[in-house]
Amino acid sequence: MAKKPIFDYDLIVIGTGAGGSAAATIAARAGKRVAVVEAETFGGESPNWGDIPTKALMHAATIYDEAKRASRFGVRSSTVGYNYPSLQAWKDLAVKRTGAGGNRRYYENEGISAFGGVAHFLSPHEISVNRRHLSAANFLVATGSHIVAPNIPGLDKAGYQTPRSILQTTRPPRSLFIIGGGTVGVELAQLMAIFGTKVTIGEIASRILPGEDEEVGELMSRLLREQKGVTCLTETRIVSVVKDGIGKRVTFSRGGVEKSIHVDDVLVATGRIPTVDIGLENASVAYTPKGIEVNDYLQTTANHIYAAGDVLGRHKQTHTALLESRVAANNMLHPKGRIAPDYTATPHLTFTFPGIASVGLSEDDCLRRDLPVNKGMSSLNIVARSNTSDFRDGFVKIITDKKGVILGATIVAPHAAEMIHELVLAIKHHMTAVDIANTPHAFLSWSEAIRVAASRIG
Ligand SMILES: Cc1cc2nc3c(=O)[nH]c(=O)nc-3n(C[C@H](O)[C@H](O)[C@H](O)COP(=O)(O)OP(=O)(O)OC[C@H]3O[C@@H](n4cnc5c(N)ncnc54)[C@H](O)[C@@H]3O)c2cc1C
Repeated sequence: MAKKPIFDYDLIVIGTGAGGSAAATIAARAGKRVAVVEAETFGGESPNWGDIPTKALMHAATIYDEAKRASRFGVRSSTVGYNYPSLQAWKDLAVKRTGAGGNRRYYENEGISAFGGVAHFLSPHEISVNRRHLSAANFLVATGSHIVAPNIPGLDKAGYQTPRSILQTTRPPRSLFIIGGGTVGVELAQLMAIFGTKVTIGEIASRILPGEDEEVGELMSRLLREQKGVTCLTETRIVSVVKDGIGKRVTFSRGGVEKSIHVDDVLVATGRIPTVDIGLENASVAYTPKGIEVNDYLQTTANHIYAAGDVLGRHKQTHTALLESRVAANNMLHPKGRIAPDYTATPHLTFTFPGIASVGLSEDDCLRRDLPVNKGMSSLNIVARSNTSDFRDGFVKIITDKKGVILGATIVAPHAAEMIHELVLAIKHHMTAVDIANTPHAFLSWSEAIRVAASRIG
């Protein structure tokens, strides 16, 4: 008689976002007995509420915005308008098409047991899900991150939108105060402004997009102000938010002066914190509020438990979560061939128009580390495409070491998310600026600006 396995599963994956899904699939296809547990909607943040719906709406918004301004090309566009419910329907269709949102059946088709419910560790090899107990030889914790509203007097009582709820509103608010000018705050600021909302961003740092180099935040502030009427209040601390008629009153302090503004609604975009409240102490997994501690191989302090994605509190991007998920699966399946995730050439994107993309070290990073570097910059208006597309803002910046090896790059351009991958590849393979400068770049592509920036490095 076959021996009964000690555990119910070889692997239980907690969380079905990008951090969990790849590992579950890889392990199941390798013949392992796998279960996934999902507390909310299968697929996690990216397809259901994050990347996909925001970018679907942004695509529609950009077309609308371009069409409105197309008379300069001789296109008659005075009657362009939008229908908000139809925009929502388009967003929902895009989510459906990815097949990753609410995809419980996907797991079942892969031969993976799928449980809906909140997983909680009872011991190192056992979790509870609803009233059920499940055991496994290995676990992958991929519980992602969640929003925690900042501690601002009155905010909870007054109520606020989140990046998730703002996408479900039946119409755009007439005015919106966005607390936080990072990637998500700025993307949503532009999106709502295109649909006619009067947007104000309050950011505590000295510039919006503080994770990018200075000229990015400055350029985007100017473009948002000039083209979309968005006010960016930097070095601004929110003092209170209170109900004010059917809207809200936001009081903020800037340069020691307190002011207040009435808005229809407030959106909290101050970031997300790792979801670590899953009984990790019962499994001897060390963690802090900033994330689960892992070694180079994504193994937690309990050898058989791995972690991947936003719950590590590192990059908070879908492609990084997927990378970590694949690495964790490899390391669980092949303990003798363990690998570490390589983050050096991981791009970071902001899907505004123009788009923002960066990879490797920023100039600020190099200054902070006192690294001797060279820099080459090219404005977009130097390439012919800027004339044929009537777009002159934006730039490409490349940073190299003193031998010319590319360390980092930043692009602000209409197709920055696509352009950056040339530099991702260059960094991954330790290429030099001369390699890029000597590579043919097609005439009338935005990428000509990359060649020009590379050729300017002395
Ligand atoms: C508005 C917005 C836009 C974004 N746009 C982009 C973008 O364009 N590109 C990009 O790369 N990144 C983007 N991101 C970030 C990206 O969505 C995340 O980095 C990514 O989804 C992280 O994947 P994850 O698997 O770690 O977490 P998640 O996708 O959050 O998945 C974690 C899952 O675990 C579940 N869970 C939590 N606790 C438990 C428990 N105890 N038991 C069972 N299940 C549990 C949760 O319900 C969730 O479904 C965006 C984020 C937001 C909010």
